[in-house]
Amino acid sequence: MRVIRDLGPCSRAELVNQTGLARATIEDRLTRLVDAGYVVAAQSASGTGRPAQKFRFNDDSGVFIVADVGSTHTRVGVTSLNCELLGTREVPLPLDAGARTLFASVAESAMELLGDLGLAASAVRGFGGGTPGAIDTAGTHFMPRDGWGEEDLIRLLRDELSLRGLGGFPLELDRDANIMTLGEMRTSFPHIRDMLVVKVGMAVSCGIAANGVLLRGAHGFAGDIAHRPLAADDVPPTETRCRCGLENCAEPMMSGAGIAAELRGYGHEFTTSRQIRTLAGTGDALAQAVLGRAARRLGIVISGAVRTLNPELIVIGGNLADQNSSLIEMVRAAILENSHPLVTAGLSIVGSSITVDAGMLGAAHLIRDALLEPRAVDLRLNRGEGWL
Ligand SMILES: [Zn+2]
Repeated sequence: MRVIRDLGPCSRAELVNQTGLARATIEDRLTRLVDAGYVVAAQSASGTGRPAQKFRFNDDSGVFIVADVGSTHTRVGVTSLNCELLGTREVPLPLDAGARTLFASVAESAMELLGDLGLAASAVRGFGGGTPGAIDTAGTHFMPRDGWGEEDLIRLLRDELSLRGLGGFPLELDRDANIMTLGEMRTSFPHIRDMLVVKVGMAVSCGIAANGVLLRGAHGFAGDIAHRPLAADDVPPTETRCRCGLENCAEPMMSGAGIAAELRGYGHEFTTSRQIRTLAGTGDALAQAVLGRAARRLGIVISGAVRTLNPELIVIGGNLADQNSSLIEMVRAAILENSHPLVTAGLSIVGSSITVDAGMLGAAHLIRDALLEPRAVDLRLNRGEGWL
């Protein structure tokens, strides 16, 4: 199942080659997977001779619902089981509307999207999503922010979906930076083993791929690089306390929310990262200066992670960074200035090419991975449960 999931249609001989298993074992395994509906015979390619029969994942047997919850708006989508976006919606609700209200809107948008696509609720095979803040491995939200408590997000989401007739399928939630990292890993950089994906929006967060695997840490909090004290010579004259509880924390000094707060002092009113990016793009000297300081702090913070993890690629995305090459250049300069040349030799630092879709594509891979994880498939096969 894992080989077919990751490599696409395979013949019996290719499965033997990939797994090293005996042909009889492959035959037995294929029979079980075909009988249970996970795998179907692939259409033979036209050509001369009789091609070997290939087998593929049964990807036309449903869809996933995905959601990427952001600080000021949330994107909801429906994807194929191969994680291609079929339709998207934007929910313009800030986080401080509360988790239940926001998930209710996500569920309503999902129902509307399914209707637009002519699909029944029974076509949904799973839900994948990401939210800001920190989520432990059980789906409970920690480091509460913007009115969200320390609550069981999976349960809240399941309640709101089932109220609208959407239920009976598994749900997976992760940190926003983690789903973004999965999206970049699977869509744009499948051959990169070690990378950082930094999301720069109203908040700053980071996902880590180490040796080809998303690194979550012991309890799901790996990658929280932004909440740490500022360098001593960078501390502002007025003492500040971050929502994480730390005094003089770097995160509010380099995030869209922090930049908006600083610009508010000069009479500019912003509610989204896109608005800040647009003002800086017009050449506004003040906005560029504030953004420049934030970018330098971000580069210094990222250089700490670079020294620890020695990545070969850093992707900088999020609404403040997307289509903002000058911000990425400033961050790149600060990373290189604050890292040993040996550690940054061969390091690429780029903007995201899939921009706003990275999170939703990653959310689709999150639920797909969970459903097709070999041990999960084995467990369902042994219980006599099929894919369909
Ligand atoms: Zn903090």
